[in-house]
Parts: sequence; C-alpha cells; structure tokens
Amino acid sequence: MAFLKNIRTLSPDEINEWFLSKGEKKYRAKQVWEWIWKKHALSIDDMTNLSHELREEMKKEFSLPAISMYTSQHSHDGTIKAGFKTSDGNIMEGVLIPAEGRQTACVSCQVGCSLNCKFCATGYLGRIRNLSFDEIYDQVVFLNELALQTSGKKLSNVVYMGMGEPMLNYRNVMKSIERVTAEDGLGMSPRRITVSTSGVSKMIKQLGDDGVKFNLAVSLHAAFDEKRSRIMPINDKNNIASLVEALNYFYEKTQNEITFEYILFKDFNDSLKDADQLIKLYRKIPVKLINVIEYNPIENAHFEKPELNVIHRFMDYLAAHKVNTRLRLSRGKDIDAACGQLANKAAKAENV
Ligand code: SAH
Ligand code: SF4
Repeated sequence: MAFLKNIRTLSPDEINEWFLSKGEKKYRAKQVWEWIWKKHALSIDDMTNLSHELREEMKKEFSLPAISMYTSQHSHDGTIKAGFKTSDGNIMEGVLIPAEGRQTACVSCQVGCSLNCKFCATGYLGRIRNLSFDEIYDQVVFLNELALQTSGKKLSNVVYMGMGEPMLNYRNVMKSIERVTAEDGLGMSPRRITVSTSGVSKMIKQLGDDGVKFNLAVSLHAAFDEKRSRIMPINDKNNIASLVEALNYFYEKTQNEITFEYILFKDFNDSLKDADQLIKLYRKIPVKLINVIEYNPIENAHFEKPELNVIHRFMDYLAAHKVNTRLRLSRGKDIDAACGQLANKAAKAENV
C-alpha cells in the first residue's frame, strides 16, 4: 500500500498547492483546513461539502489518523475521565474537571513516561511513544465537546498534566499549543494553559528562549536533593540547583512566574524541616504559588498520605511565612481520574 501522508501535517500553503494541482479551486483548501482544525473531522469521508470523487482522490494520498474517545466515566464530583485510543491502538487518558466558573481539560502528551517517578502510575508503564501534536490537540477538542455537552460551557483552561513528560516531547507539545491558541484552531488564550514538568532544566531554558506565554508548573515534591532523587530519578541529572538556575532564566526571558507542585507523602516530606527547605527554595525563584497536592495512592507504591492535622500543620507553617500556597484535594477519586492514577487502569483495560 502506498504511504499516506497525515493531512494534518500539511501547512495551508501545501494543501492549497495540492488542490490547485488537481485543478480545484482555492476555497477547497480552506474548507479542508476548517474540517481538520475547526470542525473536528475524524476521517476524510467526514468532509461532506467535498464531492465523493474529490474525497476518493484525497484518500489516495492522505490519511487522517484521528484519535477516538472510546469511553468516558463520570465521577460523583463532576469530573469526567475520557479514554482515548490512537489510530495505531495505543491508549491514553484525559480528564475534564469542572469547577466554579471553570472547565479544565487535563491532557496526555506521551503514552507512558520514561521518568519513572516512584509515586506515579504512568512512570511504572515506561515510555511507549510520544503523542503527535494532532493527537494532543484532539484530546483538547474532545474534552471541549464533552464540556459543551455536559455544561453548555466551553473549556476555559487546559493543563498538560496527564500521562507523560511534556519537556521530553517538546516539539509536539509546542505545536499542539499553537493549534489550541490559534484563531483557526480553538482560539484559547495561552494564559489559560499550564504545562507541568518534572524539571528538565535544559528544556525549561528552551521555553525561555522560545518566549512562551503559557504557564509553567514544576513538580517539585521535595526540596532536598537526596529526597527528591529517591522519588524522582530525574533529579540525579537535573538537581535542584540546576532547576533554580533554569527557572530564573525562564523568568528573565518570559516574565512568567512559576507554580510549584508539592505532593505530601506521610513521614517523607511533610515535616516542618521540609517546609523550611521549601520556603528557602521559594525565595530563590519567582514562584507565584505552591500547590500542595493530596497524594493519590497507587498500587505499585508504598507511600501514604499524611493525617489531616499534619497537612494543616504544613499549610499553616507555609502561610505563616507568607508563602502563597493552596491545598489541592484530588478530584475524581472514585473513578481513578486523578493525575498519576490514569495509566495503570488504562494499561489494564488494554489487557482484558
Ligand atoms: N510529567 C509531568 C506532567 C504529568 S504528571 C510532571 O511530572 O509534572 C502531572 C502531575 O501529577 C505531576 O505534578 C505529578 O507529580 C502528579 N502525580 C503523579 N502521580 C501522582 C499521585 N499518585 N498522586 C498525586 N499526584 C500525582
Ligand atoms: Fe512521568 Fe510526570 Fe509521572 Fe514523573 S510524574 S513518571 S514525569 S508523568
């Protein structure tokens, strides 16, 4: 079979040229562009304002390997977890998180992840493959449709906090954000987008060089190198000092303040000594907020979440030191929709 080119990798000019070479009018290219980026065509046959013959002609050269949404699970708290399948049969997940005045989509950027964080279900899968920019974009589009169906409201925010490490699939993540923010895409503001990274220093600097306008969140989870390395092997080559340098560079270039994510693990990083170290770090970098996150227990790991009074002691200590902080209780627990829990269930579903 002839190699078919993914039509979504073509630029408007390239699509234009193709139609002109077939003796077609220019507006055909515009129609196709709308189908692939605005009207969410899932196949070339979906493009119903093109003649059957023309679609057949296109299918000889192009493919449209869209992802599909094969399941959705609704939580009591309104969170909806969506299972997605790529055209080559890989599965990943996204989550729609409704809140007061917000509809947030959480999307995946890789199938699995190579970074092996000890508390994260995705980390136990290993990296299966990167998602292409259109596969990432499609998740946002599906979750936007889900938001419209369930609440009548469009997505207000997108977070890259599903499966995978965005900084290790840099080009596709950047390109997907270009489509999410483009007028002829979803037209969202980059201020409404947050990319979360476990801290790949070199790529954080690259974000600075690229002058990005979206928000950056860093999964810190421990403010001492030795502890961080124990739960996040990436810290061996990207230690906290290198992160401090990269994040200050990022801020200089973008004027964008950073968010820290800090999961509390019982008897591991929840003492006042840990809080003190976190505060010291907070003062070295323009951090706008520390999100203290409730740990979602996963099967493979032996961590636990602290008692409520320990969580509050930690929070109060940060607040007393004028740290801007918020406690994030996890959503969608009854359907395992919380970050870091997505992957194993997905992997299991695949095996049945
Ligand atoms: N790879 C990126 C983004 C995906 S993970 C990163 O690590 O930042 C998204 C977030 O979920 C990260 O902050 C991650 O630390 C968090 N997470 C992973 N497993 C978790 C768990 N079991 N409980 C709570 N948060 C978890
Ligand atoms: Fe990968 Fe992020 Fe999970 Fe770590 S927390 S294994 S970087 S997805």
